Amino acid sequence: MRRELLHKLKGYMNFLKESDFIVLDAGKTRTPFQDSSHEGEGKAKKLKALARRIASCQKCRLAQGRTHTVPGDGSPQAKLVFVGEAPGFHEDQEGLPFVGAAGKLLERLLARIGLSRKEVFICNVVKCRPPENRDPQPDEISSCEPYLLEQLDTLKPLVICALGRYAAQTLLRTDEGINRLRGRFHVYHGIPLLPTLHPAAILRNASQLKDVEGDFDLLKQKLKGLTG
Ligand code: URA
Repeated sequence: MRRELLHKLKGYMNFLKESDFIVLDAGKTRTPFQDSSHEGEGKAKKLKALARRIASCQKCRLAQGRTHTVPGDGSPQAKLVFVGEAPGFHEDQEGLPFVGAAGKLLERLLARIGLSRKEVFICNVVKCRPPENRDPQPDEISSCEPYLLEQLDTLKPLVICALGRYAAQTLLRTDEGINRLRGRFHVYHGIPLLPTLHPAAILRNASQLKDVEGDFDLLKQKLKGLTG
């Protein structure tokens, strides 16, 4: 009788979890870089709803060639958000950002400052893969930008890191080159934003790896200053 009751309860809890009524495990892995579980639950719901809207988006030509949309991934409670350029082949296959070689480097850079990808949130300027990994076009960026802005408005991170030229230029509304922008904090809607080089650029030419490592150290310092 008791076992049956427990079994039913477990089924009901799973039903609630899958139907997004509540986030049962939000907050379990809270770190100083994440906010309260209550806030996290609200954010998780909003991000999931947004991801569903992105999944049915037909606003630009990239919708035609995609396997999956790649809305973003990580902790809804994250205090640090990374914004990349666009999904590549592996991301399009899996529906997750930065799961290819550039993602491995990003994970190494995160580990260097004591973080894992589960503790941050990672997303891109455009949510669908451009054909043959070409650069995203200005009209594709403007169609997709409202999704990014909504993500950032929901997450309300303490710090943003723009990975590469497209993320930095889109968020900062500038056409300044990434080498001039990187290495110092700018401000995005009151939030400190640090542009750095895209991990894929470092994979092509490792000569600036030290610069990027220095940028990640700046992120760590800034977070420490803001979270105590
Ligand atoms: N490069 C990006 O900018 N984003 C990804 O998700 C993967 C590679």
